[in-house]
Amino acid sequence: MYTVRGHTKVARRRLICNNLGAPKWLFIGFLAADKRLYTRDWLIQWKMQVDPICPLCEQVPETINHLFFKCKVSAEVWGRILWWQGLLRQPEEWQRELIWCTSKHNSKNSTDLLYRTTLVAANYYVWRERNQVVFQHKRSCGDAIVRLIIQAIFTRTTPTSKMQGKLAKLNW
Ligand SMILES: [Zn+2]
Repeated sequence: MYTVRGHTKVARRRLICNNLGAPKWLFIGFLAADKRLYTRDWLIQWKMQVDPICPLCEQVPETINHLFFKCKVSAEVWGRILWWQGLLRQPEEWQRELIWCTSKHNSKNSTDLLYRTTLVAANYYVWRERNQVVFQHKRSCGDAIVRLIIQAIFTRTTPTSKMQGKLAKLNW
């Protein structure tokens, strides 16, 4: 049995090691796994005066588990990315996705490598979208975010990369 803290450390390592994500994706994934992204609940804990509501759906308070991937905007994105890679399940909240990462997708095979890489890509692009809404008042549709993630995943692979064969079988 893991302790919560121990589990976070294991999950963080499993997420980041053997991952073909860009360094900036890994960085955001790392902070998310460590619960150190400045979501609004975190800012409020530090007595900052901010609107608690999630900027993406504008319906419920923003927490890390909501933002990844309970929010209807990010759930749509992550659900479609899961479906694209042939994982036919509903998106889970962040803590559960990390458990999937440590328990079900922890090998070096191409399916698991793709899962971990798409997970940090989704972290990065959802976080970027959230910041664009907050700071630039610009909003993209879920479709555009999904396309961005899939295109970015393709740019991370080389012809000799392990993921190449797996990606060749997927439709984009
Ligand atoms: Zn939301």
